[in-house]
Formats: sequence, C-alpha cells, structure tokens
Amino acid sequence: MMKFDLEATLIFSDSVEEAVKDIEEAIRESNETLLKKGVPESVEDGGADVRGFSVEKDTLTLNIDSDRYVRAHDALLRLKKRLNKELGPEHHVGVRELSIDGYAIELDLDRAPKDPEKITLPYVEEVSFDEKRCVLKISELGEKELKENYVDRIIERLKEKVDAQYYEGKEEMWELLWGSDEKEMAWEKDPTEEMLERDWIKRGPTKGKWFYRPEMAKVLKTIEKIAVKEVLKPLGFQEIVESMMVPFDVWIETGHMEGIPNEAYYVTEPKTRNPGEWEEIIDEIKIARDVPDEKLEDMIETPKAGICYAQCPTIYWSFRNETISDDSLPVLVYERTVPSARYESGGRHGLERVDEFHRIEPVYIGTKEQLLELKEKLIERYKHVFEEVLDIEWRMAKVEPFYLQQSGGSEKEEELDLGTVDFEAYLPYRGTREESEWLEFGNLSVFRKYTESFNIKSQSDTLLSGCTGIGLERWAMAFLGQKGLDRENWPEKFDDYFGDMPDGFELL
Ligand code: ATP
Ligand code: ZN
Ligand code: MG
Repeated sequence: MMKFDLEATLIFSDSVEEAVKDIEEAIRESNETLLKKGVPESVEDGGADVRGFSVEKDTLTLNIDSDRYVRAHDALLRLKKRLNKELGPEHHVGVRELSIDGYAIELDLDRAPKDPEKITLPYVEEVSFDEKRCVLKISELGEKELKENYVDRIIERLKEKVDAQYYEGKEEMWELLWGSDEKEMAWEKDPTEEMLERDWIKRGPTKGKWFYRPEMAKVLKTIEKIAVKEVLKPLGFQEIVESMMVPFDVWIETGHMEGIPNEAYYVTEPKTRNPGEWEEIIDEIKIARDVPDEKLEDMIETPKAGICYAQCPTIYWSFRNETISDDSLPVLVYERTVPSARYESGGRHGLERVDEFHRIEPVYIGTKEQLLELKEKLIERYKHVFEEVLDIEWRMAKVEPFYLQQSGGSEKEEELDLGTVDFEAYLPYRGTREESEWLEFGNLSVFRKYTESFNIKSQSDTLLSGCTGIGLERWAMAFLGQKGLDRENWPEKFDDYFGDMPDGFELL
C-alpha cells in the first residue's frame, strides 16, 4: 500500500484568472490521460488525480492524490509542463515557481520499527507509525529535488533505518573456510612494545601515525616484495600509480561518503596562492611560533576531497564509462604507492590498527567466470605465501555484514556467494587461540556494485570487480607476533628475502 497526498502551488508569470476555464479543462483532461500514464492495465482507478484546485491572481493551488504508479509529485511535474504548453501561446503566461505546501505519503513497511521515536529524516517534518503503516510528512522540497528523486531516496532511507534497528548490535556472519596447522610460537610478546624498546619504530608525529626506522622499514618493504613477487607477478597483475586525494563525487559513487564519513581524513585547499593575502598569517607564525587557527580557517576552503581510504575507488574511477576490450579482460592491476588514512580514534593500539597504513591493493575487473577463477588462484597464491614464506598460523573465513544476510532475494544470494573472504592470524600476545581475537590481516572480495555504479562495460558480457587488501602493517604484525624480532626464529624463505639487517642507529 502506498498513497500520496500533495498540496502544491504554481506561481505564474502573470495573473491566470482570465485562464481559469482553460486550466480547468487541462486538469480535467489530464486526470483522464496524462496522470494515468504508466498505470498497468490490470490496475483499476490507478494513477494520480487532481482533486481540487483554486486560482487567485498569478497563483494556482492544487491538491493531488495518487498511488505508487504515478506518484503525486511526478503528476505535478507533468501537469506543470502541460499547463505551460496550454497557457503559453494563448495567455502568454508560464509557471515561474513551483512549491510544495504539504506532502503526505502513506506506505506499508516490511516490518514495524522497533524504536519508532528514534527515526528522523531530513526534509521530513513528521514521521508516524502504526505498526507497519507509516505516514511521512515531507516539506522543503523544490522542483529540482522532486526531479532528482529525493522522495524515493527519503523512502529508501526510511526503510534502511527501520531495518538497521533489527541488526543493530548483531555480529556479522563468520564462517570458517580453512585453517592452517597449529604452529610453534617463537614468543608471546606484543611486537609494538618490543619494537619501541629496540628503536625500530617511533610513535607519532600525530595520533595513530608511526615513523618506521630502518629495521621495521625493511620488514615492511620485504613483505611488499614478497607479495608482488609471489602473488601478483605470477598472476599477471600490472602496477598502476594513483592520486592520494579522492574527490567526494568518487566516494559518493562507491558508497564510502555515506559509509565512512566518520573515519575519513579530509583535505582542504588554500583559498588563494597569492602570498600577499597570507602575509598576516605568516607574520603571526614568525612572531608567535604558532599557527593562528581562526585566521587559517578564513584562508582555506571547506574540504571537497579526502585522503585515500582504500585505493580501489580511484581505480574504478579511472575506468568510468569505459568499454574494456575482451582482450584486456580480466583487468588485473595493483597500487602500492598511496598510503591509506583512517581516523580510528579509540580503536588504535599498536601497529595492528594505525591511522595511516601502507597497503598494496590489487583490483580486478572481469566476467563472473574470470573473477571466480581468479579468486581461487589468488587464494592459492596467498596460501603459498602464508604457509611457505611466512610460515604463520592463520585461517580463512567467509564474512558478511549482517544487513546483507538479512536482505533476501536471489540476487543478494548470488552476492553472498561472491562475498568476502578474510584472512586472520593468531596473535599469541593476545591470549589463547580459542579465546583471543585473531587479527584480520587481509581480505578478498568480489562485487557487482562498482562496475554498475561506474558504468564499466565489456564488449559482450556483464562485468564484476573486486579487490584484495595486502596491509603491510597487518602482515608484519601477524608475522612478528608469531616469529618475534630475532632473525634466528624467522623462516628461511622470509629471511632470504629480507637480506641484510640494516645497521639502524644507536640512540643515546
Ligand atoms: P577492521 O575491521 O580491522 O577495521 P576493515 O574492515 O576496516 O578492518 P578493510 O576496509 O577491509 O578493513 O581494509 C582492508 C585491509 O586493510 C585489512 O585487511 C587490513 O590489512 C588493512 N587495514 C584496515 N584498517 C587498518 C588499520 N587501521 N591499520 C592497519 N591496517 C588496516
Ligand atoms: Zn578495495
Ligand atoms: Mg576498519
């Protein structure tokens, strides 16, 4: 059930009192044809109806009722066009302004909200529930917003918020796929603490950031080398280099803008590059040895981009609206120059969760068959590295956020099938195998949504995409957490890749 009840005003460029007869006729006629277009034949009395109208000087007030087939605001837009065409030639008037005075939408949800009081929405004056039945009173929408489907998105958002009340606090699905043998642990210490002790790393210079001295830098670079040589090269991945700054429109398209606005680091530009206009601030800095916050605020723009959160959005952007030749499929690329920034706030600990991390992100675009085959090959190469080169104790799990499990339907089923695989490693310093939380040090996903939203096509087949994160800090923590910092406990293959230990510095 869905019912729309709209009160709206059209203001014309001049009085339309003379044209009342023609307006009446246009409305009568529209009620029979124009406002019924799109209603399936099987539906009786469907569509929209102008229930009443009045004219005063240049203002036409309308009351429109409708069902889901021709939503009242669409009827209003149709009618506006019709009236312009009808009244223009003869009466020399046109609609100058369109506004909504009241818009009530009544609909049935799939389920009643658990906590109706908590549901609020922008552009909605009032939302009330009677079990599954919901009435929305919408205001503040202009013509532009109506044309751009705000009403549909408000209803979508409402449904999302009701659904969210059902999965709040629930764990995401976690299903073990495979686990390595139990392995002997070289130590049970926290590698971050020990590396600080040995001056391999230094905390800072700002929250959640780290400085890697030569020893740790070499560990990270060695892991990078291993991943490229043992995983990416054998599978034919090509390296690309992207920008570290991501404009909001790219994040809107990938869903990051709505998904992680609370974790993004934002980038601002100076309002001007003219040094003269910066003189006052420069004077302050020179004299006070500090940055005057308020003055600076006046000199910079509000952010319109963020620092890379994951490399894949910009890679998808680079293929936006492209048709990829069958010969180039599957596209296999990786990015390893741009660090990722995430405001982890309270979640930080050691190097397992940092605000700026280094990751190789391989991205793949291809047909479903190609990507499902690639997924198996990637897992095989990863397994080889974790077993033969790093020799760690790890496991693989299929994971899915709760909301995906809930939203049924065959398409979603398939999505689940493509889904995400997490790689997790045991960290002895956190406790026993059974009770402690294992560290997610990598993952691998295949998606439908990005090729869709960026309109990436092939010559024939539908394309899917996916990515897999090789977080260097996380791989390092999985490795060092189990093998320790002393080389005699490192597996031979890793040690060979590592080469000579850098001298580092003796800090007195
Ligand atoms: P978590 O649940 O641990 O926050 P996530 O789901 O946010 O992880 P993804 O967005 O899937 O992680 O990131 C992919 C990979 O990036 C992770 O597997 C990990 O290797 C790495 N990673 C993510 N966040 C961090 C971080 N704060 N510090 C270091 N590495 C990270
Ligand atoms: Zn990604
Ligand atoms: Mg996270």
